[in-house]
Amino acid sequence: MFYSRYFIPTIKETPSDAEVISHQLMLRAGMIRKLASGIYNYLPLGLRSIRKFENIVREEMNKADAIEMLMPSVQPAELWQESGRWAFYGKELLRFRDRKEAEFCLGPTHEEVITDMVRREIKSYRQMPINFYQIQSKFRDEIRPRFGLMRGREFIMKDAYSFDVDSSAADLSYEKMFNAYMRIFERCGLNFRAVEADTGSIGGSSSHEFMVLADSGEDAIVSCDACRYAANIEKAESPLFTAASGSELEPLLKVSTPDMKAIVDVAAFLKVATEKTVKALVYASDKGDLVMALLRGDHELNELKLKNHLGWDEILMATEEQILACTGSPVGFLGPIGLAKDIPVIADRVVKGMTNVVMGANEQDQHYTNANLGRDFEVSGFIDIRTVEAGDACPRCETGKLEMWRGIEVGHVFKLGTKYSKALNATYLDANGREQVIFMGCYGIGIGRTVAAAIEQNHDENGIIFPIPIAPFHCSVVAVNTKDAGVMAAAEEIYFCLEKLGIEVLFDDRDERPGIKFKDNDLIGIPLRIVVGSKGLAEGNVELKIRSTGEVKSVPLADVAATVKRFVDEALAHAE
Ligand code: ATP
Ligand code: MG
Repeated sequence: MFYSRYFIPTIKETPSDAEVISHQLMLRAGMIRKLASGIYNYLPLGLRSIRKFENIVREEMNKADAIEMLMPSVQPAELWQESGRWAFYGKELLRFRDRKEAEFCLGPTHEEVITDMVRREIKSYRQMPINFYQIQSKFRDEIRPRFGLMRGREFIMKDAYSFDVDSSAADLSYEKMFNAYMRIFERCGLNFRAVEADTGSIGGSSSHEFMVLADSGEDAIVSCDACRYAANIEKAESPLFTAASGSELEPLLKVSTPDMKAIVDVAAFLKVATEKTVKALVYASDKGDLVMALLRGDHELNELKLKNHLGWDEILMATEEQILACTGSPVGFLGPIGLAKDIPVIADRVVKGMTNVVMGANEQDQHYTNANLGRDFEVSGFIDIRTVEAGDACPRCETGKLEMWRGIEVGHVFKLGTKYSKALNATYLDANGREQVIFMGCYGIGIGRTVAAAIEQNHDENGIIFPIPIAPFHCSVVAVNTKDAGVMAAAEEIYFCLEKLGIEVLFDDRDERPGIKFKDNDLIGIPLRIVVGSKGLAEGNVELKIRSTGEVKSVPLADVAATVKRFVDEALAHAE
């Protein structure tokens, strides 16, 4: 590709509306441009990286026996009504009517469409296992589109859907996809973790998210420093509790704690460690159910764990009125002793081993000291409801410690079970001619988000440092002085030679100052750069620069193409 005839509109200044580095660099490198909030044009350079990554995904999907197809973006409302998601999906689903007033939506995901296709076409156990995938634009009317391609409203996703005769066959399909995902992100050279994830509203079976580690990541994840355990913090299990050998129970005492609402203040005021305190939080469901959750004073509550345990659709902090009505006390002095109303009290497992604790007395400015479980209060269950912390013991191997990271979710694999096949009546006939429900799995990868995440992990102050497998070009050839016929001839020769060898080359033939060319080349992150100048040429040499290490070598003109070819081949082979 001749740079002068191509289109790479680079920008010097950092765009003020881009918060994260990948967004800034994708704009500055001329890869993307915003059309509307969360909606982007993929400019030529951006599209090249996107296509590169798509092809890695495609290769690995094909290797894992998934079959490519393409479904429409526009989906009829009826299918979503059948699955029950029309009412449930909320505002992320962009809905509209056609000229006949029929309702449609723009597909945020394609479970309904694929299940509809499968129920019509797959009739026998002999046709399974089968897995269909597509690489296609999704639309989600995200409440806060941001970070460029990272959280767009229109974005490209690879989505795959597996269909199996039963749950254990579906497990195998899941495993195949899991392994394919591992290879995909390894091939891109990304530092990532596959973490256990919450199954959310779909419930039941299991799910893993693939998280690229980056400080700008929206998710918090933990991983064990000794074993393979890794989980989204939403889901991460706190270490198994072992009961402390009990100390003598002291008599319960009510003490005045004027204006001390925060448990740390109460602890400081009473001169006890926060580990000796228990805090009580009251939560409400959208239907008005109330629950009190007890937690060691220095621990954080994991609302999702509590919500999943209760089976609520939504979990909300109780309002001041709700709290007053059920405890008889204003916020800040709550506890399980002497509740005004009989509401369920759920305690974190850690609370079980605590003795002689400080807790609220359900009275303005009053706390108890030496409160004891069994003697002074009861709870309806001990559940893991706390958020894990860095340094916690690993819940699996129990010898390792949990480390905490920020992560960008680039992929998600999901065992769906029969949720959609039941709702849409997707069945098959088994070997005995009996009708059975199909078992499903679904598997997504954010294409643009992964490219953005790769940039988030690979950049320096000069710009992007593309990993070779997803670089828009492998190599650039920069002619230092385009007016020098000898320089241009040599540069062109290298360019055509590289092209012949199958290397993707950007030939910077622009009539610009070398400084500008070098800056642009650094910014757009091409992994290898050959600089052709008259000085070097006089000795028969050109300069080869490796973007990732900054290493510069002088290479004989005659060898440079072969050197680049070897470098690229090695990097790509390593990535396979
Ligand atoms: P998130 O929690 O980030 O909103 P999600 O759980 O809604 O993601 P899935 O429905 O599992 O995402 O979609 C599959 C993949 O599509 C995600 O792993 C992510 O890589 C990508 N993705 C989801 N939403 C967006 C978006 N708004 N912009 C870009 N990529 C997205
Ligand atoms: Mg989402």
